[in-house]
Amino acid sequence: MKSLENKSIPYKIYLTEEELPRAWYNVRADMKNKPAPLLDAETMQPITAEKLGTVFCEELVRQELDDTTAYFEIPEEIRNFYKMYRPAPLIRAYCLEEKLNTPAKIYYKFEGNNTSGSHKLNSAIAQAYYAKQQGLKGVTTETGAGQWGTALAMACSFFGLDCQVYMVKCSYEQKPFRREVMRTYGANVTPSPSETTSVGRKILEQFPGTSGSLGCAISEAVEAATSQEGYRYVLGSVLNQVLLHQTVIGLETQAALKKYNIKPDMIIGCAGGGSNLGGLIAPFAGEILRGEANYQLIAVEPKSCPSLTRGVYRYDYCDTGAICPLQKMYTLGNGFIPAASHSGGLRYHGMSGVVSQLYEDGLLEARSVEQTSVFAAAEEFARCEGILPAPESSHAIRVAMDEAIRCRETGEEKTIVFGLTGTGYFDMMSYGKFNDGVMGDYIPTDEELQAGFASIPQFPGNEI
Ligand SMILES: *Cc1c(COP(=O)(O)O)cnc(C)c1O
Repeated sequence: MKSLENKSIPYKIYLTEEELPRAWYNVRADMKNKPAPLLDAETMQPITAEKLGTVFCEELVRQELDDTTAYFEIPEEIRNFYKMYRPAPLIRAYCLEEKLNTPAKIYYKFEGNNTSGSHKLNSAIAQAYYAKQQGLKGVTTETGAGQWGTALAMACSFFGLDCQVYMVKCSYEQKPFRREVMRTYGANVTPSPSETTSVGRKILEQFPGTSGSLGCAISEAVEAATSQEGYRYVLGSVLNQVLLHQTVIGLETQAALKKYNIKPDMIIGCAGGGSNLGGLIAPFAGEILRGEANYQLIAVEPKSCPSLTRGVYRYDYCDTGAICPLQKMYTLGNGFIPAASHSGGLRYHGMSGVVSQLYEDGLLEARSVEQTSVFAAAEEFARCEGILPAPESSHAIRVAMDEAIRCRETGEEKTIVFGLTGTGYFDMMSYGKFNDGVMGDYIPTDEELQAGFASIPQFPGNEI
């Protein structure tokens, strides 16, 4: 094995507790072209902190709207919680390199070392902390596949906050184990649409027997937050604040690489709402923006939900109910309903505003990959590296492997870093479909994309 030849770099690079980042990095401070401001859905004007504060916690609103402060100190309580499962290791994929017979060096940052099984806990703990600081009783949210709800349930139980999760009804029924993990951590889980909100009742009346959607669950969670005293709504991706918290991933990666004098050529992450990818690449994008270094940054998305590779850069609603503020982003349209896929965490019509602007400015590339090729990569990875990856994470594995294979052909010794966002223990039904050879690939037609674009609000400067 290659590792035996090279003792100078450990198999796993662990930072010490002392080296855990003390501040999150706000890449917007270094961006010349800032992401466009959020618009108030009622006035179509840039949203005020006051208005946002009716839905989100005060400190999180401050983080959301701040385009100039480069570093936000991580409060001691959050750092202490981080220490339970961080710093996360940066692992050299020696076995995968050997299997691919590539001269490339492959590293992955593993975020699956906590019960939620993904990076989402990094932001959940921050959001729960600020809610507690503000003296709130609890928070509400939606969850699709269940990873975000689980992370939030863990964070709320830690700080003694009530946690109300609206879980898309089909997931609630199909993923009973995820639901039970949330309840074990004390969360209240309601299948959406439900009778507990007026928007839920309206949807049930209109579409009896519907199995729900993420957009509908968001609308219910927002209503639940704004109609109960002492509650706010929290979101697990897309927003600037979430991307900010997730920079702990990129900062640790940067520190681990520096520790061993490793210069990456390429950094790859999967992109759903864009927060894990944004958090991983932000410190490296910062170096590019300040003219200090150059890297190839790559976002990987599913071919079934290709917001960067086939979407348009426009203002759009973050939710189907059009309650949340409008964000300028690469979007397929809030009315776009992605085909059922086994990577629930990547089934979102839009993309983080920061990631969208970096992509628009050419700092970031995007690729899209088919589901079956993703599962093939996941199994190859699992069989040599041992970790059972989440289907979402495996999008990044696919492209890292493709790039390593390219290096085999060209003889280039590139250093590839990718984000392994989580584990796939709750995705075994999907692995089963792949193993039985009954998994399909769905690629939306241009006509289907057009139908999605038609749901994007039309106003001067935002026409399709
Ligand atoms: C939610 C999730 C993603 C998608 O993350 P974004 O930050 O929204 O892009 C990726 N991987 C895993 C394991 C997830 O749970």
